[in-house]
Amino acid sequence: MAARSSLATHAAPPHGPSVLISGAGFAGLATAWWMNRLGYRVTVVEIANALRRGGTPVDIEGETIDVLARMGMLDAVRARALPPRSVAFKNADDTTAGELPAQPPAQGEQYEIHRDDLSAILFAAVADEIEIIFGRSIVGLDDGADGVSVTFDDGSKADYTLVIGCDGNRSKTRRLAFAEAEMSSRFMGGYFFIKVVAETGLLPANVTEIFSLPGRTALLNGYEDRTDIALAFRSDRAIDYDHRDRAAQRAMIHDHFAGIGWKVPAILAHLDADDDFYFDELNQIRMPDWSKGRIALVGDAGYCLSPLAGMGGSMALIGAARLADALGRHRNDHVAAFRDYHEGLRAFVRDVQEKAITQGMAMMFPADETELAERDECIRAGTFDV
Ligand SMILES: Cc1cc2nc3c(=O)[nH]c(=O)nc-3n(C[C@H](O)[C@H](O)[C@H](O)COP(=O)(O)OP(=O)(O)OC[C@H]3O[C@@H](n4cnc5c(N)ncnc54)[C@H](O)[C@@H]3O)c2cc1C
Repeated sequence: MAARSSLATHAAPPHGPSVLISGAGFAGLATAWWMNRLGYRVTVVEIANALRRGGTPVDIEGETIDVLARMGMLDAVRARALPPRSVAFKNADDTTAGELPAQPPAQGEQYEIHRDDLSAILFAAVADEIEIIFGRSIVGLDDGADGVSVTFDDGSKADYTLVIGCDGNRSKTRRLAFAEAEMSSRFMGGYFFIKVVAETGLLPANVTEIFSLPGRTALLNGYEDRTDIALAFRSDRAIDYDHRDRAAQRAMIHDHFAGIGWKVPAILAHLDADDDFYFDELNQIRMPDWSKGRIALVGDAGYCLSPLAGMGGSMALIGAARLADALGRHRNDHVAAFRDYHEGLRAFVRDVQEKAITQGMAMMFPADETELAERDECIRAGTFDV
């Protein structure tokens, strides 16, 4: 993995616009690829010491297919595509309450790919073309008339023509560049835990199993070589916890899942095994604009959809491509380009966010016995939309 440790090693050509991208998730790596193609000198800073790994697979369909084809990565994605999985809704005694068949690609091309595989494909496409610095974060942004002066957490400073924040749901770029009133994190009333484990004996391969009680859901995705395990619980209010404190997160999960049967005890044992898991609140980021001056946001940083939308990864890829297209249409005019990017994408983002609220919560995460019964009826009637 090409990781340089100091800004001093940046062998930038003397001319041409430069861009700093904060975050090396899907949004950051895809934005880096496009900005390099547009002729920018690209630097990516990623706070983690390596690409972050784990999580459930990413859906690739619709516009994301076109985006990956334009990036020349569609064949690599097809080669790593996962077999379709059936979905079984389970009772506490592990009998099946309802089932959705594994669906072959029906409405056009459609794939699922492991998050780490997509990350590796994106990284391989940019690693030799741009500078990527791991273990580094921005701590200051000074947006001027000619560029943005950026301060990093090692005390170094550098100037860039543009800064693109791709640093996820808790975006540092967003917090540095925008006023509190300009950003809103909408709490959706729940928390989720996800981990990928090597154990494969929990369920058959190519099957998803879901077990729900009012306000609590456990989910397993089975593969030949691994299992995704997930737990989610509702909470009327946002819980005040340190998002770096794994022990506190474990305690919250145990509080909500203690004494529950099905395969939950096995899932909790994996939760307790190590700190390598993903835990976050279910929330959406909603902002009146995704740019300010020479700084713009892509992916979760600007418009987190929540996992319930089921398309955070693909929206990051779409967002990166839409931003690049806008910058290509408005060369040397970042103000017009950022406006074009926002106006072109915001209705789509808003639709997906609304659907996650109106359908996603009740379908994946029934609040009470009534919602649970309604969901089970949808499963029986074949109208359940995963
Ligand atoms: C390890 C991991 C597992 C995930 N698993 C799931 C899942 O199972 N289901 C689901 O729906 N969503 C999951 N997500 C979220 C999902 O990846 C995003 O919703 C989606 O892909 C949008 O991508 P993004 O690049 O905008 O944000 P992210 O994927 O969150 O990437 C943001 C990147 O920015 C980095 N970063 C954060 N702060 C800074 C900083 N100050 N400076 C520099 N870099 C910074 C992060 O380390 C991360 O690499 C996961 C995210 C991660 C990181």
